[in-house]
Amino acid sequence: MHTEHIRKLLAQKGVRKTRIREAMLALFFDKGYALSHADVETLLPDEFDRVTIYRTLKSFEEQGLIHKVPDDRGVMRFALCPESCTHRQHTDSHLHFFCRRCGHTYCLHVHVSEPALPAGFKAENFEWLAQGTCQTCSSKQ
Ligand SMILES: [Zn+2]
Ligand SMILES: [Zn+2]
Ligand SMILES: [Zn+2]
Repeated sequence: MHTEHIRKLLAQKGVRKTRIREAMLALFFDKGYALSHADVETLLPDEFDRVTIYRTLKSFEEQGLIHKVPDDRGVMRFALCPESCTHRQHTDSHLHFFCRRCGHTYCLHVHVSEPALPAGFKAENFEWLAQGTCQTCSSKQ
């Protein structure tokens, strides 16, 4: 479905394409919300084992393909990066939205301006997490 786009994306980030890389990126595109290691393991075909999945997630993060998403329950989740992210240089200070109904976290690419901090505080990054009801759940009522 997203095959062409995924191949282009891997080439753009200088990542050699393998079956698991293509399958994992397709999964992130299809779902549209942040996925934990366990989610990825459940959703990918059995041919890919735990360790391979773990390594692929880790390398995707290093390659600027996915980023960590904040979660209030301490589960580490990942979501696709915007194209501006590169190898070890993430630019993901966008808003994340946690839906209390379905429990999914979405990346919302809306502009959030950084607050001015008191003197002496230097932030390296900000994590923005909104909570409420997502689009899908709102439309279901
Ligand atoms: Zn990123
Ligand atoms: Zn929802
Ligand atoms: Zn995000």
